[in-house]
Amino acid sequence: MTTGAASRRLLARLRDMMARSAAPLSEVTAVIAAEMVSEVCSVYALRPGEVLELVATHGLRPEAVGRTRLRIGEGLVGLAAATGEVVNLPDAQNHPAYAYRPETGEEPFAALFAVPVRRAGRRLGVLVVQNRAARRHDEDESETLETVATLLAEPLAAMAASDPGGEDLATTLPRHFAAASLVAGLVIGPVVLHGLRPAPKHILADDPLAEQARFEAAAARMRRGLDQMIAASGHLPAGMATRDVLQAYRLVAEDAGWVRRVAERIAAGLSAEAAVQRAASEVRERMRRINDPYLRERLADIEDLAERLLAALDAGATPPLVPAGAILLARRLGPADLLDWHGRGIAGVVVEEASAAGHAAIIARALSLPMLGGVRDVMAAAEAGDLAILDGDEGELILRPADDVRGAYLRAARARAARARAWADLAHAPARTREGTPFRLMINAGLAQEMDALDRVGADGIGLFRTEIAMLARGRLLDVAEQAALYARVLDQARGRPVLFRTLDLGGDKLLPEADAGFAENPAMGWRSLRVGLDRPALLRRQLRALLLAAAGRPLSVMFPMVATIGEFAAARALLLAERARVRPAPARLSIGSMIEVPALLWQIDALLAAADFVSIGSNDLMQFLFAADRGASALAGRYDILAPPILDLLEMLARRAAAARVPLSLCGEAAGEPLVAMVLAVLGITTLSMNAGAVLPVKAALTSVDLAAFRAVLETLRRQAGDVASLRAPLESWAREHDVPL
Ligand code: PEP
Ligand code: MG
Repeated sequence: MTTGAASRRLLARLRDMMARSAAPLSEVTAVIAAEMVSEVCSVYALRPGEVLELVATHGLRPEAVGRTRLRIGEGLVGLAAATGEVVNLPDAQNHPAYAYRPETGEEPFAALFAVPVRRAGRRLGVLVVQNRAARRHDEDESETLETVATLLAEPLAAMAASDPGGEDLATTLPRHFAAASLVAGLVIGPVVLHGLRPAPKHILADDPLAEQARFEAAAARMRRGLDQMIAASGHLPAGMATRDVLQAYRLVAEDAGWVRRVAERIAAGLSAEAAVQRAASEVRERMRRINDPYLRERLADIEDLAERLLAALDAGATPPLVPAGAILLARRLGPADLLDWHGRGIAGVVVEEASAAGHAAIIARALSLPMLGGVRDVMAAAEAGDLAILDGDEGELILRPADDVRGAYLRAARARAARARAWADLAHAPARTREGTPFRLMINAGLAQEMDALDRVGADGIGLFRTEIAMLARGRLLDVAEQAALYARVLDQARGRPVLFRTLDLGGDKLLPEADAGFAENPAMGWRSLRVGLDRPALLRRQLRALLLAAAGRPLSVMFPMVATIGEFAAARALLLAERARVRPAPARLSIGSMIEVPALLWQIDALLAAADFVSIGSNDLMQFLFAADRGASALAGRYDILAPPILDLLEMLARRAAAARVPLSLCGEAAGEPLVAMVLAVLGITTLSMNAGAVLPVKAALTSVDLAAFRAVLETLRRQAGDVASLRAPLESWAREHDVPL
């Protein structure tokens, strides 16, 4: 049995031994056995092929070293490695997973304690102690052995790296991951890992009291940061963003057993960083096995707090450099984190948890940053610096690709780059189809940083400015002055080109981190967007005022999202007109428009066209509601197509009615950025399209090269003969390819 003093003595002895370079592991096992009063102490290392090999022992037969091998999951040692959990058994031989290895001579030992050795989520081996007498190791002893396992990570990692078979095969072989494609594009580059800090330089500390003081100072810094967040949330509308969530988070920060456990580890001799990292990795292990969403959330909070604590301990350290063209891998990623990494130069992003990718995906799209979601367990399989291919078109991630695969992708990337260079010349070419139909291509944006794209791609303006993005990026609602400054900058940079500002579209998958919209079974159809604005008019009026102030006498276009009834549009419009009466100078021209994205509006279209100055079809939401198919569900991606005959009928009807009413109509959903869809829309009479900046030139290349009259004839024939086909995409695509239209 070890006491706190014995534990410190063991750790101090081990540290001294390890400081002498290359202390043999057999000596280390002898010291552990002696201090733990155990007859046996053994170390197994993970070897190529997911095999655990006995690499050192005190107490088992020496000839078993290098011979005894277990697969991950085989025997109790393999079980500890497979689950990442401690195995603590007074009578190991009666456990169903017990696997007897005669060469070890272990039959006289009853008690077994096995603790996995891991670093940065990666398995390295297992530390085992065994006793003749049946006994269960108590909490103090468990704690000590887990700390010892942390110390063993260093020599085992070195052993894996110098293995003649290369490193641990699990992290050297190519791995393919099927993923949800959140933003298209191709990136080939080294990976960087989010949230996995490098192993702390010092695992043990000489002075536990000083270390405890560092930990407490960092915890206090972190709590102050949280208090500031809570204070800043004061102006958020009740219900939409109550302080409860933050308060609950703050409570987790305040205590919960984990803070005490960190302190205990420091008292046992670990550095503050190592103690916090151990707590975080334990939490991660538990999260892997928990399905209950509530508990997962709480554990996610703790993991998040551990990250904040490490950052607070690291205050002043410069963040590591990001290699050029790097691909960021993350378990979860907030919008502010993504912006931060983008500023440091990443070229693509891969997130394990697709559901949490909601906000980050919106930002990634805004930044044209290729992104994959739902790539489970990729963090455990990757090492920083591994080469990876992120294929955002096919929804695939390839880690450590084989040379021929890498070669093929590099050729594809070069071809793409050559095509992009050719397209660049198109930016200032006239926007007309071959037989002379004019079209207008605009961009969707949400951040001031995106405005450069207007000139780069020669866009006609901003067809959709998503005002919620800047708030999601900063993680809070902006006040009137902050909003007005942002919108004014956008108008300045647009230099007279139209900007259609859409009022806040929060809710659904776009929640501010501190927002608590309450539990909603179907958040996309819940209390979101304009519904919030109309129920909390002060919030909407503040935004409208900011827009009018930003215009400062210039023309202003404001568009309302998620309008479901004419009454809602009229109420929103009235709020805008009331604000206009108060703001001087009034805009030279005020255009008030509506998104068409709620199906009910389709049956009120004439009334809407009579009331609105312009309308824009939000095909993302319109399609999700028409087909009752969650736009974020990767399992449904591609199942329903905008090129379905009934949808084409619907779009044509909208184009005709808008033209008859002389109300400008555009389409600003993701579909506008697909060259083939853009061609179809042009035939149907929808010639103003707003899309991600990256899509403008490819769409322009298709529209300027197509003979629209011939394409119209094909489309009309297909629509007449459609029968019950679900989509006209395949035959239209074949026609375009046969006629050399670049898709
Ligand atoms: C849409 O729904 O199509 C749209 C453009 O708006 P958002 O994607 O922001 O919901
Ligand atoms: Mg929408």
